[in-house]
Amino acid sequence: MSAERELSRAASKKSWLEAANDPASDFPIQNLPFGIFSDKRNAARRVGVAIGDAIVDLAALAAAGQLALPAGGAQHFSQPVLNGFIALGREAWRSVRLHLSTLLDAACATLRDDAQLRSRVLVAQADATLHLPLDIPGYTDFYSSKEHATNVGAMFRDPSKALLPNWSEMPIGYNGRASSVVASGTPIRRPMGQLLPPGAARPVFGACRKLDIELETAFVIGRGNALGEPIACSDAEDHIFGMVLLNDWSARDIQQWEYVPLGPFNAKSFATTISPWIVTLDALEPFRVAQPVQDPPPLAYLRHTGAHAFDISLEARLTPHRADRPVSPSPTTTITRTNFKQLYWTMAQQLAHHTVSGCNTRVGDLMGSGTISGATPDSFGSLLELTWNGARPVVLASGGTRGFLEDGDELTLTGWCQGEGYRVGFGTCTGMILPARG
Ligand code: CA
Repeated sequence: MSAERELSRAASKKSWLEAANDPASDFPIQNLPFGIFSDKRNAARRVGVAIGDAIVDLAALAAAGQLALPAGGAQHFSQPVLNGFIALGREAWRSVRLHLSTLLDAACATLRDDAQLRSRVLVAQADATLHLPLDIPGYTDFYSSKEHATNVGAMFRDPSKALLPNWSEMPIGYNGRASSVVASGTPIRRPMGQLLPPGAARPVFGACRKLDIELETAFVIGRGNALGEPIACSDAEDHIFGMVLLNDWSARDIQQWEYVPLGPFNAKSFATTISPWIVTLDALEPFRVAQPVQDPPPLAYLRHTGAHAFDISLEARLTPHRADRPVSPSPTTTITRTNFKQLYWTMAQQLAHHTVSGCNTRVGDLMGSGTISGATPDSFGSLLELTWNGARPVVLASGGTRGFLEDGDELTLTGWCQGEGYRVGFGTCTGMILPARG
């Protein structure tokens, strides 16, 4: 039986690690996402897999002789990024997940009944620091939500021609800035830049006044392609290692002034936050669903058969931390709820389009989905849309309102696939706004 089928059969599986069986846990035995962590006992960054409220230390597990990979592959578990492990290929990822799925199974005594081994290879998530899991050679951001593109086009251009003619023919994207991709928890400094006040002939220089989020996911390239050799749409998912949550922080006032004619630059390049655990496509497989119907039918190189979307519930929460604001009754407001499955263009189509020119990709490349907005106003993926460019502020549970983010605001994205009695989750993707360095 293939590893894929073995894993997808495992919906009813339980772990001896009780926290993993909590239906609200993001990290049941069905998930087993990969990340990079360090902890109080050992400051070295190394590969871990999340399970319940713990992390399995793969470097320690390999050192204890409980996790083998051919041809010295296990050395990659001691590395500070996942790239080396990912480059080993899909068979290696699958064999590690399958092995862990057995070791952590309620019926398996190897780790369950060996307290000494458990103390060496299990780390409490509460005692660990999670790091950026990848060396990211390139970061591309797409623009694949029809609802988002329509909303932004209506606001920034002409409501009667909100969607430009090329949008329905290709997954529009741009090459973003990989150097400023940061791990969840990293504070975000409000950017300075050029702003054009309403009615003014020339811009002023100052702190962004319209700081925003973009609720996105991203996929991570697991197998690159050579320069000049495009990836076919039908093969594209074989090149994907897994997915993360992504917040594409955006300075809307800087963006509106700079984006014509070449697209966003300083409005986007100051920071992009990703969640620390990479959920594999194998773990997402039971949640595969059909993508939206595409009209007009895409050109041949963008066609694939079958289902290529995934049912991933997504939310964004805002927590203000300013001392002059009350913190009761609830300091946190869920500002939007949406779903990845509504995205018009699939990840496979994005990758096929990205490489059709001959552009190469590399292991660890990050490909953002674009802001994921639903059809209703409570499912929009940015404050720009939720507040309609500040005109209809969001009311916070703790009192007060928000048009855009204020200093001290903390923004957290969450995402999960709902199974029967369990969920495959992404953990959190969070960041707090620091005042501009003015
Ligand atoms: Ca974006």
